Amino acid sequence: MEKQLKKPLHLHYLYHKMWQTDKKYIVLMIIRAFTDMMIPLLSSATVAFIITMVGDTKNWSNYIPLLISILSASLVCYCLSQALKNYFQSVGNIFRIQNMVELVEELLFRKYEQVENAENQKLFAKAMTPTDNPEGAFQKAFEVLYQFLKNTSGLLLYGFFIGTVHPLLIVVIAGSSVVMYVFSLGTNRIEQSNKNTLAPIRKKNRYLVDNTGDFKAAKDMRLYHMEDWFMNEFEENNDIRLKLLNVVNHRKLKGSVLSSTLSLLRDGLAYWILIQQVLDGTLSVASFSFYFGIIASLSIFMNGLLTDLASFKYLASEVNDFRSYTEMEDQVNNDVKVSIDSLNYPLDVEFRDVSYRYEGSDKDTIHHLNWHIKSGEKVGMVGMNGAGKSTIIKLLCGLYHPTSGEILINGNSVQQFSNDEYVELFSVVFQDYFELPLTIEETIKQGETKHSREYAEVLEESGMDMEIAKLLQNDQTKLVKRVNEDAVDLSGGQKQKLQLARAIYKNAPLLMLDEPTAALDPIAENAIYIKYNAIANDKTSIFISHRLSSTRFCDRIVFLENGAILEEGTHEELMELNGKYNEMYTVQSRYYQDEVEVVQNA
Ligand code: ADP
Repeated sequence: MEKQLKKPLHLHYLYHKMWQTDKKYIVLMIIRAFTDMMIPLLSSATVAFIITMVGDTKNWSNYIPLLISILSASLVCYCLSQALKNYFQSVGNIFRIQNMVELVEELLFRKYEQVENAENQKLFAKAMTPTDNPEGAFQKAFEVLYQFLKNTSGLLLYGFFIGTVHPLLIVVIAGSSVVMYVFSLGTNRIEQSNKNTLAPIRKKNRYLVDNTGDFKAAKDMRLYHMEDWFMNEFEENNDIRLKLLNVVNHRKLKGSVLSSTLSLLRDGLAYWILIQQVLDGTLSVASFSFYFGIIASLSIFMNGLLTDLASFKYLASEVNDFRSYTEMEDQVNNDVKVSIDSLNYPLDVEFRDVSYRYEGSDKDTIHHLNWHIKSGEKVGMVGMNGAGKSTIIKLLCGLYHPTSGEILINGNSVQQFSNDEYVELFSVVFQDYFELPLTIEETIKQGETKHSREYAEVLEESGMDMEIAKLLQNDQTKLVKRVNEDAVDLSGGQKQKLQLARAIYKNAPLLMLDEPTAALDPIAENAIYIKYNAIANDKTSIFISHRLSSTRFCDRIVFLENGAILEEGTHEELMELNGKYNEMYTVQSRYYQDEVEVVQNA
């Protein structure tokens, strides 16, 4: 659910955050706004002063000290303005990137279910916009605040001078401002609604860009003509973006025409009044030149201020998007009610009436599961694809939380453990695997704890010793070719052994292996089964497989169907039961027997 902020459209949050990060930045911004505002005034004053000087030939030298003062002030303002501009760009960039890192951190440490949730993924895409480029609110809002300060102070000071020429001019200036402001509010509304339409498109675009650049996807793309699909999706996405952009651009074009017309009327009236006063002899030529100069600047301040006011609303809504994600209720439990150090090993696990329903699904995937895994037990979990085996592992690991019921470790509800400590209890091999651009050794040692196993033993037990012997740089070989040029691409079987090595190295008390041998050849698979007792020694473990014979070495096997345990017992007991397990086992053994015969006859 999108968090409703108490004050959703306030940029105060952002400015306050910058103030806390770097007070100097805000102070210098005010100085920069003031100096920049003064530059046109000083230029106009210089010209007016020179005209006066030239007209007063007898006393011209009396004006020199004042002229030097005005020129020096101009020079100081100009130099300050340039120096501060560069400073602002670099500090603004750093601040924006820091906030982007904060957002990514939020994503990384959020509860898994929150990250997987489709609605939250959309929210994340929206939250990223204000930080992922210099036009985003986290940088742009400071530029706009500086402009706002400059334009407001300029409008007041220059407006005061112009007002002394004729009060009517003030009325015209205010009137044209109101018209432009109302117009820009409309533009703002269009931009806001576009942003909501664009969020899912941006998310899809990110997927398209990531996968087009991923060489792992390249072979499937070529062999299954996926290029056409990618091109079509890119084009469709771009069409929608262009259409939305065109609507805004048209609106902005109309705004420019309106603003130019109003400026023309306003400036025309001002110039006309000035010329009249010169002709009447009530205004000197020098004063005429001074006012003439500042009227042009006044127009710029006025138009700038209107743009700033519209930008504030837009930028505030971007900041709101950022906060909607970062301030979303954090469902990760970090309170320690029971410390894992107080637990006796091997652990005892109990699912007590656990049901689980995926977000957006209309039925439970796991139904009232009651299941007790005794301390030190090696359980095999089998069943057809989609029976719910992986879901149960994710529930036990704390990645998902039961929709109802509870899971207990040594009699303590898992809610009693802090999230950080709880994950220490698990060594897991999942079916899908994500690798970082590290060396093989670093990958294996990722989950290092004070209980970690001896590295050399781990290589031997997982079969990784044989694999790294084949590589030029052994266990110092880097992974992920996309990042490291000299990296290798491991085969499916090698990746599985690497995952297994990482899990064994972590040496956690609960060992969960989800189809850990699916990509291995029969000999390597057999080697793992033989070593399994040593790997799972003094642990409580769950071994998932769709191949029933691979769980024969387990103390107990549960046969799962539609998210519930249908049969359970040892292999012999289940065969005697003559139920679903027996049926599936018989079919599978016939199939594997046939497979062996085919190989032998070949
Ligand atoms: P198994 O591991 O036994 O093959 P899973 O636990 O992966 O089964 O899946 C059980 C059911 O839950 C399947 O019907 C699957 O489609 C569904 N499922 C799995 N993951 C998700 C998800 N992230 N969102 C919605 N449904 C899911």
